[in-house]
Amino acid sequence: MGLFSKGPKGEKCKVCKAILEKREERLYAMPGVYVGHYKEHPHGAWYRDNLVPIDSKAQIPTGIYAARVELFKCPRCGKEKAVVHPFLSVRDSEVTEFPVTLEYLELDAFLGR
Ligand SMILES: [Zn+2]
Repeated sequence: MGLFSKGPKGEKCKVCKAILEKREERLYAMPGVYVGHYKEHPHGAWYRDNLVPIDSKAQIPTGIYAARVELFKCPRCGKEKAVVHPFLSVRDSEVTEFPVTLEYLELDAFLGR
């Protein structure tokens, strides 16, 4: 990997610029968030209180938003972050919304710690 290469997983650490390691990817449903009613919440606590973990897309009720959450950790300084990718399953495709990044206190709130 070259110094300046930026792969699709090239999320960089804000603190030390190392490439973040993806530790985990989780899938959640957002019960109560219907088509046309998704609103971005930059607060980790909102995601903690409103996202329900699921095992597969088959468990997402029709017309309800879901989210893929990627958890990253810096291999050098240990800084963590989560990126929430909200989406709506429509037949065989996904309508995606802007990703929300949770760091520091927001990440702690999301993870419930
Ligand atoms: Zn770092």
